[in-house]
Amino acid sequence: MLKKCLRKTYLIELNTFQSQSTQDIIVSMKNTQSLKHKKFYIKTFGCQMNENESEQMAGILKSYGAHPCTKMEESHIIIINTCAVREKPVEKLFSLLGRIQKIKQKNHAVIGVAGCVGQLFKNEITQRNKAVDFVMGPDNLAKLPEIINMRLKTESSPIHTSRNREWREINQISRQNRISAYVTIMKGCDNFCTYCIVPFAKGREKYRPLKYIREEIKDLAEKGYKEIQLLGQNVNSYKDPDSGKNFSSLLKEVHKIHGIEWIRFITSHPKNFTPEIIRTMAQNDKICHQLHLPIQSGSDSILKSMGRDYTRKEYLEKIKLLKKLMPDISLSTDIIVGFPGETEKDFYDTIDVLERVGYTNIFSFRYSERPFTKASAFKDSVPFEIKKKRLIELQEIQKKIQLKFNKSLIGKKMKVLCMGRSQKNHHSYRGRNEAYQVVNFKSDPDCIGKFVTVEITDCGPYSLIGKI
Ligand code: SAM
Ligand code: SF4
Repeated sequence: MLKKCLRKTYLIELNTFQSQSTQDIIVSMKNTQSLKHKKFYIKTFGCQMNENESEQMAGILKSYGAHPCTKMEESHIIIINTCAVREKPVEKLFSLLGRIQKIKQKNHAVIGVAGCVGQLFKNEITQRNKAVDFVMGPDNLAKLPEIINMRLKTESSPIHTSRNREWREINQISRQNRISAYVTIMKGCDNFCTYCIVPFAKGREKYRPLKYIREEIKDLAEKGYKEIQLLGQNVNSYKDPDSGKNFSSLLKEVHKIHGIEWIRFITSHPKNFTPEIIRTMAQNDKICHQLHLPIQSGSDSILKSMGRDYTRKEYLEKIKLLKKLMPDISLSTDIIVGFPGETEKDFYDTIDVLERVGYTNIFSFRYSERPFTKASAFKDSVPFEIKKKRLIELQEIQKKIQLKFNKSLIGKKMKVLCMGRSQKNHHSYRGRNEAYQVVNFKSDPDCIGKFVTVEITDCGPYSLIGKI
């Protein structure tokens, strides 16, 4: 799925989506005046879904008159939105909370912890760190102004982790990007892969009604967005709660919206990824020929013990059909090395899949034991040093595959959506091609937000370099 856990400071741009729906966010309007003119800062550790949730929290706070601030030390409200999928971000949270405690002593800011970590480790967080005023689970975003207001009025109410069974629409959203937008279509997961904490953190699958998805994307198209990415833990199991329409039908509906030129989606689960979806991708030209399809392991016995519900052969058959119907398809995947019981042979079965498929990109992780999961009771038979060694070997092999593929693109011309100036070289621009590869190139400043044709002149394993 999801791209590597990344650290992101929330940079705000005013872009609030106002749906015409009558099911507005359920926030008590009383007593929220005290949020006016307060400065807030949101720190996100996690994937695109965490980023999108932070965008929603920022949208809600702004609609109550609060202002985003880029400096934590100057903010009245500090929220840390953290992913719990692997152990590292959780550790980062606790070290950041230590720093925040000092800031709080100076400016008396209200401190909140949101996201999966808030949901799962609420007691540990409030007990271990006295600076934290509240913790909030992913189903409680709409209550944010009320929670903060209660705290500002010194009414103590630290834990907000109730669950919703139904979809709850949040239509205030403050996006970081004006060119490409994340659009959540479902939340939660019913799969309970044995290593994964997500179903415990995010709860069961809930699908966003198609009418809200359509409204949001039409609004984005009117605002000039060129690309949308449909988000969910398992987008392929989408079912419109009103009509029962499936993910393929959703893709076709989105494809009809005028103005959006590139449609992507993440994350797909191989067991729910049907030939119907593959045909829909191949037949609708605005759906990018790019797919993230996490395999996790190339060994059938490991896949079985992970509870993934597909075999290596079934996965490779889907890849074969994808390549047949879309020869230019760009594929990426997630891999876990060192899962309990993984032998050398299992590991080399995974390497074999990398070589057969030829992924454009992979996200690879050392197995990390997570509380609540079934695998936490398995004997973790792979020593840390072996996990580390296997991860390095796998990443080295993939690096070579990527470099070889990227070199084959030198001299080719491709369509690139320009996202802004290059972070390293301010005289250059950066964008993404249809395959979702990073492309750096020289151009006039007015190319930001536009599609340009770039000729590839050079490359590294992780990005391409070109000229207009
Ligand atoms: N829904 C997606 C799927 O089915 O592939 C994945 C979502 S998960 C939040 C993102 C990625 O984190 C997974 O694909 C997996 O590779 C990795 N991951 C999840 N739990 C992990 C664990 N306990 N240890 C290491 N990596 C893990
Ligand atoms: Fe986690 Fe598996 Fe659900 Fe993906 S499908 S979120 S890996 S439980």
